[in-house]
Amino acid sequence: MNEQWCLRSRPVGMVKESDFELVQEPVPEPGDGEMVVRNCYLAFEPAMRGWLDDVPSYLPPVGIGEVMRASTVGKVIESNHPDYAVGDMVSGMLGWQKYALASGTPGPMGGLTKVPEGVAPELMLSALGGTGLTAYFGMVDIGEIREGDTVLVSGAAGATGSVAAQIARLKGAAKVVGIAGGPAKCKWLVEEAGLDAAIDYKSEDIAARIRQEFPDGVSLFYDNVGGEILNTTLLRMANFGRVVLCGGISSYNEEELPPGPANYMQIVIRRLTVKGFILIDHFARAGEAIGALLGWINAGELVHAEDIQEGFENTPKTFLRLFEGQNLGKQLLKIADP
Ligand code: NAP
Repeated sequence: MNEQWCLRSRPVGMVKESDFELVQEPVPEPGDGEMVVRNCYLAFEPAMRGWLDDVPSYLPPVGIGEVMRASTVGKVIESNHPDYAVGDMVSGMLGWQKYALASGTPGPMGGLTKVPEGVAPELMLSALGGTGLTAYFGMVDIGEIREGDTVLVSGAAGATGSVAAQIARLKGAAKVVGIAGGPAKCKWLVEEAGLDAAIDYKSEDIAARIRQEFPDGVSLFYDNVGGEILNTTLLRMANFGRVVLCGGISSYNEEELPPGPANYMQIVIRRLTVKGFILIDHFARAGEAIGALLGWINAGELVHAEDIQEGFENTPKTFLRLFEGQNLGKQLLKIADP
């Protein structure tokens, strides 16, 4: 039998395990041009919380009773598709289920990608997956990172932030500082990821620390968090600085949205460029990003971290880890051996 985690009810406020239900159905049979993939790893992203709300967004919401949308990596176990053979490892949006029927036809979140020879399957969901690509396009295209930049990254010990911060370092930033929750994450950012400093927003005075680290202001702020961290940083931006709005996890589970940043006028006074983006608009250049990221990883210049939980029964629980800040690097769940 196939097992699937489906959306039971739309969450109100913080997402709960009981918003999902475990459903069984027969393992699907592939039709012409289709294949069955046995999922091995599920990937978790804060954006998935937004896909549960029935509001206009860049993707339609997941419907009640539908399998939860998620990127996965798995093995083709049956194939009627000329381009995919049994045994191929593939990554794509195959959802919270053990077995998925796939056609390989690209949807709004891309198609199926074969895991290249010699690449660990879980890497296709982390530094070479959606979050790694987001970091690349966010830092290189949207942030226009350049030599000499003074860079601050929020959510810096997460999947996207950790890669974005290291790209800034690799592109010649004069200083890169990360903001993250807790001493273990801050230690990792400095000692493993090679950042110049890290600020623990849970125990330190962020405003004072940003002032101390950036006496001449932040020239590029890569924001994954929004809320008070964005508001505070706006006061410490350098003239003509750039702000990359990648995400705003601090409000994803809020029932009532907080008011906009009180320091909004700093955008005018400091003549800032503030730019939002969504990865799906950059898929056409995924190959370029994967090539660059893999090059840095193979050269030992970019470290990547995965937090791998185990067991399909733990799927909703693993999703909640993102909002509890329990993950360092990419949150994954292993549900079968590759
Ligand atoms: P992640 O950073 O690996 O995991 C989420 C992290 O957010 C947690 O580990 C936690 O770290 C932090 N966090 C949770 N609740 C928080 C709160 N209330 N205030 C401050 N920090 C909080 O997740 P990710 O997949 O890489 O996503 C990071 C951001 O990028 C999200 O905002 C996401 O929506 C965005 N994103 C955007 C795109 C795009 O196309 N624009 C694509 C992918 C991701 P701490 O322990 O440090 O709090």
